[in-house]
Amino acid sequence: KVKAVHVVEAPSVLPKVTNIIAVASGKGGVGKSTISSNLAVALAKAGKKVGLIDADIYGPSVPKMFGSENASPKLIQIDGKDRIEPHERYGVKMLSIGFFVDPAQATVWRGPMASNALKQMIEEGNWGELDFVLIDLPPGTSDIHLTLVQTVPVTGAIVVSTPQDVALADAVKGINMFEGAGVNVPILGLVENMAWFTPAELPDNKYYIFGKDGCKKLAEEKNINLLGQIPIVQSIREGGDNGTPAALNEDSVTGMAFADLASKLM
Ligand code: ADP
Repeated sequence: KVKAVHVVEAPSVLPKVTNIIAVASGKGGVGKSTISSNLAVALAKAGKKVGLIDADIYGPSVPKMFGSENASPKLIQIDGKDRIEPHERYGVKMLSIGFFVDPAQATVWRGPMASNALKQMIEEGNWGELDFVLIDLPPGTSDIHLTLVQTVPVTGAIVVSTPQDVALADAVKGINMFEGAGVNVPILGLVENMAWFTPAELPDNKYYIFGKDGCKKLAEEKNINLLGQIPIVQSIREGGDNGTPAALNEDSVTGMAFADLASKLM
């Protein structure tokens, strides 16, 4: 089990959210959004109230992964203040930069614009009472990451990586950023994605395409938790493309792997 206590000076932001978890990666394309989406669904399936904020301006893929590309969250007024009503699917309340801007334009935003958009989703979203809010960050270490830790009391960060050396090297940069002076966000653990591949016709064979146990070894070296190892599975890719996250299918091996990942946070 992961326990994290993070005391910050601004408890008024998202006061009714028990755990605010940043999902980060060093490199792009390692499956950060896939893990965020499936983890959110698995937490909801376990009976938790869950929110998901897609702050990946360089590729806001959460709407597609939830089949919610056409959602347009409503602006509402509560106590005279403008609020954005999150879109809800599969028991997960979500807001994405993709709901508000053409992704092709968001990629040319400068850091401050992206940071403001994240701030707005956090502060003006009508999130209500939630057990978890997951924040799918852009890859790397940027202004947005600093805005996040300065805006909300982040409980901890999850770092997603493949076991490949170049991905691990960037994951270390992410870990160092969160643990660094002035940021001090505890690392809840690493998720090793694309840990191996097993073809359907050879169920006993595991092929370590990106190397074996890279995150496991890094976790041991850095004395942090390895929250889980998720293999390369066709249904994970298909679920992402179809808007039906693999974690919805609780009885599948993959669904169970995401349920196990979620249980580490509860
Ligand atoms: P990131 O958010 O790090 O850029 P994505 O979550 O968008 O990465 O994943 C990149 C691509 O890899 C997507 O096409 C996704 O469907 C696929 N993918 C991610 N994880 C897996 C996995 N475990 N098995 C199969 N495909 C995966």
